[in-house]
Amino acid sequence: MSRVHNFSAGPSALPLEVLIKIQNDLLDWEDSGMSVMEASHRGKSFTHIAEKAESDLRLLLDIPDNYHVLFLQGGATLQFSMVALNLAQRNTIVDYAITGSWGKKAAKEASKFNQVNIVCDSKDDNYSSIIDEKEWNKDSAAAYLHITENETIGGVEYNFTPKSNNVPIVSDMSSSILSREINVSEYGLIYAGAQKNIGPAGLTLVIVRDDLVGQAAEDIPNLMNYKTYVDSGSMSNTPPTFSWYAAGLVFEYLIDIGGLSAIEKINKKKSELLYQYIDQSRLYFNPVNEDHRSRMNIPFLLKNKSIEEKFLLESNQAGLVNLKGHRSVGGMRASIYNAVGIDAVIDLITFMDKFEVKNI
Ligand SMILES: *Cc1c(COP(=O)(O)O)cnc(C)c1O
Repeated sequence: MSRVHNFSAGPSALPLEVLIKIQNDLLDWEDSGMSVMEASHRGKSFTHIAEKAESDLRLLLDIPDNYHVLFLQGGATLQFSMVALNLAQRNTIVDYAITGSWGKKAAKEASKFNQVNIVCDSKDDNYSSIIDEKEWNKDSAAAYLHITENETIGGVEYNFTPKSNNVPIVSDMSSSILSREINVSEYGLIYAGAQKNIGPAGLTLVIVRDDLVGQAAEDIPNLMNYKTYVDSGSMSNTPPTFSWYAAGLVFEYLIDIGGLSAIEKINKKKSELLYQYIDQSRLYFNPVNEDHRSRMNIPFLLKNKSIEEKFLLESNQAGLVNLKGHRSVGGMRASIYNAVGIDAVIDLITFMDKFEVKNI
């Protein structure tokens, strides 16, 4: 068996310990004589797993009691619609801060149902920074303010939490959740697709303050109403059982290694090493403003574009895979989520350096 260093933006690497546990459990999970994929979501064993996953997540993020944790499907993209349909009455004002392509998509979806007010949009500098909050054009009557904590494609991450003035902050944390400590009570709602930093695709997490649930219009589909999930423990219909189980194993793993303060230190170190290397390089560069650089997704461009294909081919041969940048940005991108170790980052830098020396 040979495992590569996987820098995919999503679905992405999972901790080896978790994969081994899944492998061990697979044929005979908890002495049931079956795999977790074959078990009823209403059975005792699965119920236990589901509850433990929630309590472990609550422990990791220190989630206050007045917040619900929901296990949904539909990805972060469905949350673009659910947030708009649940947190605001139809055709009322909602605020969106645009710092890259995911935020733009979220705002576009919300504009089907609500009056979207764009509080800031960094398109003029090609989404390489976040506009100072003092210059934001917030509407004090907005039902919520939506931000994208970490723009996965552009590699732009907030280094502050916006001031809310009692407007609930909704944060798309798909690619940054569990990468560092946060203060959940600063947000009204947090959502994240699982396939970046939580577990396998198919699961979406929503953490929502209880007063924000139950305001949706009657005519929205049941499965798009947060209240349906709150009332049923996220089991109004069959949940994504395997992904929920695997996410639970990731939570256990994170607790075992010391929780979010421990992983945050590692993530800081990993990203610092890579940015420091890129910044002193003569071949590679990162276009993002230093204050807003992502710790999870690090795009880098080659000053000589004609050797990009060569870079991808040779890095792949060296066991460093999925480094191709998003088609809208080009160049390269290293996604260094929790499960990508410091060893992977060091191997990447070593490769990049050798490549630079040979090709400059
Ligand atoms: C990946 C991603 C999405 C889309 O997620 P899906 O689960 O594919 O719907 C949305 N927002 C951010 C920040 C992402 O990284």
